[in-house]
Amino acid sequence: MKLVARYTQVADDFAVPDSPSAVAAPTLLLWNDVLAQQLNIDVASAERADVFAGNLNNSDVKPVALGYSGHQFGHFSPRLGDGRAHLLGAVADQQQQLWDIQLKGAGATPFSRGGDGRCAIGPAVREYIMSEAMHALGVPTTRCLAVVASGETVYRQPPQPGAIVTRVASSHIRVGSFQYLASQGDVAGLQALADLAIARHYPEINTTGPERYLAFLANVVEKQIALVVSWMRVGFIHGVMNTDNTLISGETIDYGPCAMMNQFDFDTVFSSIDRQGRYAFGNQANIANWNCARLAESLLPLISDDEEQAVALLSPLINGFAEQFNHAFSQMWAQKLGLDGDQAGDKELVSELLGLLKTHKLDYTNTFDTLTESLQGSVTIASDLAAWSIKWLTRTNAHSYQIMRQANPRMIPRNHIIETILRDYERDGASSMLIDYLAALKSPYYTMANNAFWYSPPVDGDHNYQTFCGT
Ligand code: AMP
Ligand code: MG
Repeated sequence: MKLVARYTQVADDFAVPDSPSAVAAPTLLLWNDVLAQQLNIDVASAERADVFAGNLNNSDVKPVALGYSGHQFGHFSPRLGDGRAHLLGAVADQQQQLWDIQLKGAGATPFSRGGDGRCAIGPAVREYIMSEAMHALGVPTTRCLAVVASGETVYRQPPQPGAIVTRVASSHIRVGSFQYLASQGDVAGLQALADLAIARHYPEINTTGPERYLAFLANVVEKQIALVVSWMRVGFIHGVMNTDNTLISGETIDYGPCAMMNQFDFDTVFSSIDRQGRYAFGNQANIANWNCARLAESLLPLISDDEEQAVALLSPLINGFAEQFNHAFSQMWAQKLGLDGDQAGDKELVSELLGLLKTHKLDYTNTFDTLTESLQGSVTIASDLAAWSIKWLTRTNAHSYQIMRQANPRMIPRNHIIETILRDYERDGASSMLIDYLAALKSPYYTMANNAFWYSPPVDGDHNYQTFCGT
């Protein structure tokens, strides 16, 4: 595995050299062979447990922990950083694109702030399942290469077996990375980071000066909108959209407290610490907008020495977020309903349906799946939607089925199924269900999996379901 260092030139204290702490008895639990091949990862089977637990004996690997700030639930922390993650470096794929290889849970770093730098097996396996499912759903996301059991206990409430998860990302540049340099007044560092982000994610930007960084923000805004729209298309609730968990690439990162919505409701929240519903299903666009505004603030010194002028140039991009989002959001509903063209009354058609879903506590995924298949005559629409569906059918055409089938998954990583798998792992260090489940999640739209349990919402609803940050 040939690793390249990407962040060491940005600024002092940005990529801090730090080695993982070896663990006692690493065992490889999950290995993503397809991803390993795409990334030309040639670590021999016998060495994988050691390498991806952080038991490194290769002096070519120079791990770092990255510094970043973050607005957590709206409150600014200037120094967060990788408290339980080590970036080993980046590997080149077959197209020469670089991908960060990061170990999460491989021990404390200079950013740990008293934390143990470790990860329990449950959150590690959960991140693997969720991120691979999201990738198959076509949602931009970081990926998982491996999960290794550490053979050690992590002291949580209650104590749990430990694990290290290997995360793959197109970069680890966060909104919080810019805030970190901006809060230190490091303009040269900001520029170096923005140029690095542009080279990796937006290489088509070829202007210089303020234009360059305005174009950068415009691109990030576009990517964040696309991300939230694809989350909402599949019913995903991120749960902790802090600026440190917002990647400039527009990929989903940090699967700690995320969950899938079952019954449709814009107000759905699962995270135990999100008491105000800041990160509720229907508030995710507002938060992405707010996070982009925090990025814009960090970029001020790259736009002009005159702050007022810089604000005047950046503001239209932030103020235009809502309109741009609404446009993409309407398109998403049009696809989910296979609407023919763009007509007056479509907005009302969508809101009437969503109102019915909420009133009758209907499952989001299964309702759209049924609507899709009803066009083939293979299933019948629920009686609660019968009157509405007469209006809807007049808006469909011969292409609607294909369009809807690509927008509406049947297989989503349902919370209660993942919990069953995680309980197996916590108790036995393995789950007989997982391999088949991961295989089924690979084709969520045209699934052939013949297991009704996997498609079913929890029998008792999910009113008591809670997620935790996974620390
Ligand atoms: P998260 O909630 O995962 O986004 O983490 C927020 C911050 O807490 C980041 O700076 C993490 O690196 C840090 N953190 C989370 N868990 C741990 C841990 N077990 N040990 C040290 N730092 C941690
Ligand atoms: Mg995080």
